[in-house]
Amino acid sequence: MKASQFLISTLKEAPADAEVASHRLMMRAGMIKKLGAGIYTYMPMGLRVIRKVEAIVREEMDRAGAVECTMPVIQPAELWQETGRFDKMGPELLRIKDRHDRDFVVQPTSEEVVTDIARQELRSYKQLPKNLYQIQTKFRDERRPRFGLMRGREFIMKDAYSFDRDVAAAKKSYEAMAQAYRRIFDRFGLRYRAVAADSGAIGGDLSEEFQVIAATGEDAIVYCPDSDYAANMEKAEALAPSHARPAAARPLQRVPTPGKSTCADVAQLLGVPLQSTVKSLVLATDRANEAGEAAGAQLWLLLLRGDHDMNEVKVGKVPGLDAGFRFATVPEIVAHFGSKPGYLGPIGLEQPLKVVADREVALMADWICGANEEDFHLTGVNWGRDLPEPDAVADIRNVVEGDPSPDGRGRLAIERGIEVGHVFYLGTKYSRAMNATFLDESGKPQLMEMGCYGIGITRLPAAAIEQNHDERGIVWPDAIAPFTIVVCPIGMDRSSEVRAAAEKLHEELAALGVDVMLDDRGERPGAMFADWELVGVPHRIVVSDRGLKEGHLEYQHRRDSAATKVPVAGVVDFLR
Ligand code: ATP
Ligand code: MG
Ligand code: MG
Ligand code: MG
Repeated sequence: MKASQFLISTLKEAPADAEVASHRLMMRAGMIKKLGAGIYTYMPMGLRVIRKVEAIVREEMDRAGAVECTMPVIQPAELWQETGRFDKMGPELLRIKDRHDRDFVVQPTSEEVVTDIARQELRSYKQLPKNLYQIQTKFRDERRPRFGLMRGREFIMKDAYSFDRDVAAAKKSYEAMAQAYRRIFDRFGLRYRAVAADSGAIGGDLSEEFQVIAATGEDAIVYCPDSDYAANMEKAEALAPSHARPAAARPLQRVPTPGKSTCADVAQLLGVPLQSTVKSLVLATDRANEAGEAAGAQLWLLLLRGDHDMNEVKVGKVPGLDAGFRFATVPEIVAHFGSKPGYLGPIGLEQPLKVVADREVALMADWICGANEEDFHLTGVNWGRDLPEPDAVADIRNVVEGDPSPDGRGRLAIERGIEVGHVFYLGTKYSRAMNATFLDESGKPQLMEMGCYGIGITRLPAAAIEQNHDERGIVWPDAIAPFTIVVCPIGMDRSSEVRAAAEKLHEELAALGVDVMLDDRGERPGAMFADWELVGVPHRIVVSDRGLKEGHLEYQHRRDSAATKVPVAGVVDFLR
């Protein structure tokens, strides 16, 4: 590829909304272009990276026996009504209507469609196991799209779905995927950890997230340096009730309240009085499973207009929220309820809420509220003048650094990660809802056992950059670099020798199948080098008159501090 033909659009400054290195650098390197909140064009330079990620994923999926298909991005609502997700899913699911007023969704993932395929096409046990995958556009109307491709609304995901005849076979399929994921993430050349994740009510322990280690990651992960124990924070907390303890001034506790999502339910379960006047109030907290700044028990107070019966509201659904609400001030709330202990809820709000942190008011002690996830609530929620600073609040956890590892083989450490992949045993959740059966040996219909397996194709490059960059720009691992080698001729317009040598090298490398870029734009060396350092091409060859006279070219790896002289004749072998 020649730079004069390619579209290179590097920027000196990143836009103000780019908070993390990967977002800043992808914008500055001209890899992506923002079209709307969480919606980006993959520019030619960025698309090359994405295609490389896809190629590795596709190769390993195929090797693991999965078969590729492509399912529609726009899907009729009927299938989603069959599983109940059309109503249950909350505003992350983008619902649209066609000209006939029929409902559709934009796929955030594709269990419904793939299960519909399976129930039609997989009729006999002889056709199982099967694993179908796609690499396709997804849309999730994220509460807070940010960090560029890291948390987009439109993004590309590889999603795979396995179908098996029984639990044992499904576990095998799951294991095969978990292994394939290790191969995939090894090939990217990134530091990552496979961590146990919560698989919900069903599915036992068969859920793992693949987390790329990065300080800017939105997830907290817990691991033991002396053993192979690793889990995400939610899982670690769920698994380690024996270490449960209040770590900070206030005893905040996460209490399982399975299936109990209404005020009345939870109040009864926890044996506290339900405040009848609480009817119009929602108190939401957001744990570390959400965006970083919301980690811990950061409290949101929200006063609905007052015309909803909160006892009827389920987690994740607050009818009428769109109809308008206003934020309560702390004095209003204190005046309203005093500091009586009670239950405030429900939660799971996916609307962007504003924090109304006003520390100048009286303490509200010992409230119970939802934890923005199903099946758990928080007790000991306190709010007011002596609330710890947000950083301290973020550290209130049931699992902390130095706790004994559940496997008894050392002490726990905590680090941050970016979830780039997720493998998940589903059981019969979808096959049951959609009646996806096959006939077993005796001709009896049986529900298919399923698993689902995702990889964030467009999140992966962002994660790679978080791990691999310096003050000059990106440093791509070879496996996913947009170009592996850039040839930088100096004074190409003046010197026919330089031009000839650079073009020859470019042709030879291209013929060998190397992704090589020839910078024939005629830029000055400083500007040219700065561009390629920003873009992060790992290998650079400089062709200059002086070097050619002495019979050498200059090679420099993106991580090297100085160039190495390489004889012209041996350069292709050197680069291979
Ligand atoms: P997160 O916890 O970050 O919201 P998730 O658990 O909701 O992710 P999954 O449903 O497990 O995501 O989807 C599979 C993969 O898709 C994730 O592991 C992640 O790599 C990727 N992914 C999910 N949401 C986004 C997004 N908004 N932007 C980019 N990639 C995403
Ligand atoms: Mg999500
Ligand atoms: Mg997740
Ligand atoms: Mg996930």
